[in-house]
Amino acid sequence: MRYEYGAGLAHRDAIDMHVHVEQSDDGHPSLPDALTEASAKYFKAEDRAPKLDVIAERYREWNMAAVVFTVDASTALDHQPNSIEEIIEGCVRNNDVLIPFGSVDPRQGPAAAGRAYQLVEEHGVKGFKFHPSLQGFDPSDQQYYPLYEAIEAAGVPALFHTGQNGMGAGLPGGYGIKLAYSNPLLLDAVAADFPDLQVVMAHPSVPWQDEANSIATHKSNVWIDLSGWSPKYFPESLVKAAGRQLQDRVLFGTDYPLIEPAKWIAAFEALPIPDEVRPKIMKGNALRLLGLEA
Ligand SMILES: [Zn+2]
Repeated sequence: MRYEYGAGLAHRDAIDMHVHVEQSDDGHPSLPDALTEASAKYFKAEDRAPKLDVIAERYREWNMAAVVFTVDASTALDHQPNSIEEIIEGCVRNNDVLIPFGSVDPRQGPAAAGRAYQLVEEHGVKGFKFHPSLQGFDPSDQQYYPLYEAIEAAGVPALFHTGQNGMGAGLPGGYGIKLAYSNPLLLDAVAADFPDLQVVMAHPSVPWQDEANSIATHKSNVWIDLSGWSPKYFPESLVKAAGRQLQDRVLFGTDYPLIEPAKWIAAFEALPIPDEVRPKIMKGNALRLLGLEA
């Protein structure tokens, strides 16, 4: 069956490309507790894990749509994520505001590619979220290429966390989480070898922003989402690129519930980005990326 997500998009002001569903309806957390607590502290988030229907209600109130997901890092964290099927059902129930991305654990080998195929074919997910540091994998390693092949063939984007990481922040050994897997340069090979796969580099890629800008400038299948940081702290080179050469491939995103859209938008308004570019970043580019119409 084909699901229709984004039913009310024409009326929405923006599409938030990056929203985490941190627990299932029965309270099962997406992450081990130690990680959730540490990241809540790092981001000073107040309501760290609203349930899906609450997220939907809030985005409806804010008149925005949201791409929602969890991260399947079963192997690296030895923890089952909250149910992706339940997220999808919630998006069907709230299809005027919510758009589901799937997540698969790349370290599960061929099963991951099969699962990706199933999530698109049976559930109509509109993309996939990866977090190489949390999932403990080097995205440029060719052992994961069958997975990218499946996603490329499905015609949906793959979004990768890049840069500095709230996960494990302030813990001994950063909870074993390796920052280097979130270097955007690792995605250059993926984008080069899968030219029909749309690759989203999530977040300002601090401390590798120049790498991210240059990959996105070089490869037309690479996008940047602006989530995870207040625009106040965006590297200047990113602000410049977003207003100029990357204006058609930069995407609004918050990383809610870690960052509130209203706060993000207030800080974004203060940036020197041309007025005519803002609607592209807030909504137009996401519509194109997701193959949705408004
Ligand atoms: Zn994220």
